[in-house]
Amino acid sequence: MDESTYRRSVDYTLAKSRFGNVVNVFDAVVLIAVLFSGLLPWGFGKFNANFGSSIWATAGFLFVVGIALSIPGLAFAWYAQFRIEQRFGFNTTSIKMWIVDRLKGLLLAVLLGYPLLVLVLKLIEWAGASWWLWAAGVVVAFQLLLLLIAPAIIMPLFNKFTPLPQGALRERLFALAQRKRFPTGSIEVMDGSKRSRHSNAFFTGFGRFRKIVLFDTLIAQLTELEVESVLAHEIGHYKKRHVIKMLGVSIAGIVMAFAAIAWLARQQWLYHTFGFEYQPGFDAPNVVPAILLFALLAGTITFWILPLIHIWSRHFEYEADAFAAATMGETQSLIQALRKLSEKNLSNLIPHPLYSSFYYSHPTLLERERALRVAG
Ligand SMILES: [Zn+2]
Repeated sequence: MDESTYRRSVDYTLAKSRFGNVVNVFDAVVLIAVLFSGLLPWGFGKFNANFGSSIWATAGFLFVVGIALSIPGLAFAWYAQFRIEQRFGFNTTSIKMWIVDRLKGLLLAVLLGYPLLVLVLKLIEWAGASWWLWAAGVVVAFQLLLLLIAPAIIMPLFNKFTPLPQGALRERLFALAQRKRFPTGSIEVMDGSKRSRHSNAFFTGFGRFRKIVLFDTLIAQLTELEVESVLAHEIGHYKKRHVIKMLGVSIAGIVMAFAAIAWLARQQWLYHTFGFEYQPGFDAPNVVPAILLFALLAGTITFWILPLIHIWSRHFEYEADAFAAATMGETQSLIQALRKLSEKNLSNLIPHPLYSSFYYSHPTLLERERALRVAG
């Protein structure tokens, strides 16, 4: 990396982390205000008085609180995109597209999230004490369904996918997929450049519905051999069962979350601490405060769990890199690809080891190069 690019990567890192500090302080202040002002029990009472305590109304209350709490975050998201990303030359989104994206997200939340919420609350009345197991099952099933339909129905709402045109790159990538017994229906190019100059590659779907997706920005930045090595890395994630293991962790997380909510819903002291009335029994209005408090407070606990997930995720990255090196029979093309991507994305090359071990889901460029050279 040349001196001026390095300088810019340091500036970009600092700009993002200073902004992150402001967002964190703001979020903490809002959280404390919402929790201790009595706003939630007051709103819940008002909502019940006006709309009744039917399941649809109760789910509506949770939904409205969720939307209301996400509104201050919009201003920060706008600043991150149109001030920080813009300043460093990454932003290609227009204001209009940004607003339309938010509206589409809201529409999806209403169409998918609200009915799911209603179903979860219904389960409280149908299943009694074991409701949380049923609810976790329903949410897991919903998540799996979403994985299945997202590539066909949801992702095209935001991006255009076109088959990779005939030619040397396409032949090379299909040959790689075949060689590694990675069945794939299609390789598609996503117009990532219409929002950002950052680049990426991923695969979605299962079995023969699987498709490999390359950002147009990735194809523009890398040579054919380098794109092949990046795809080999992605196939490594699949072959080493990282995808299925991460899915397992996420399912375990959902079950634990509902177990926690069910436990919180029996804690009278908790309800009284935050100003809610406590009525024992299994109906939706009695459990809703527990769901709300869980949603607000869970982040303060998962914050301490994330570093463990990150250790695991970094281990997966090393494994996928080693898989790619073995597949390619050399390490140079992946190293070149990683160098270019670090440079184009202005990645921080030398984070403090304590910081990166806590926050980074991927090893740094230098760490990956070192491991690849040992493998080579
Ligand atoms: Zn990876």
